[in-house]
Amino acid sequence: MECRFHPGREAEVECQKLEFWYCRECLVRCRACTDPCLYCKFRTGCVIWELCRKEAKKRCKEMQKKN
Ligand SMILES: [Zn+2]
Repeated sequence: MECRFHPGREAEVECQKLEFWYCRECLVRCRACTDPCLYCKFRTGCVIWELCRKEAKKRCKEMQKKN
């Protein structure tokens, strides 16, 4: 699988909800959770969410402020 944001780079994690794959860099930078505000039934077992929970919640708040 290829990273959604880095074509040609091998992906390591999958967003099970959207079925997109991401490389390690995207995981580390928390670019792999693109809908942090939306409910996701996969979160309890999601590696991305596990690592990016804080960052995702912060981004969600920022997105809501803009709207
Ligand atoms: Zn990537």
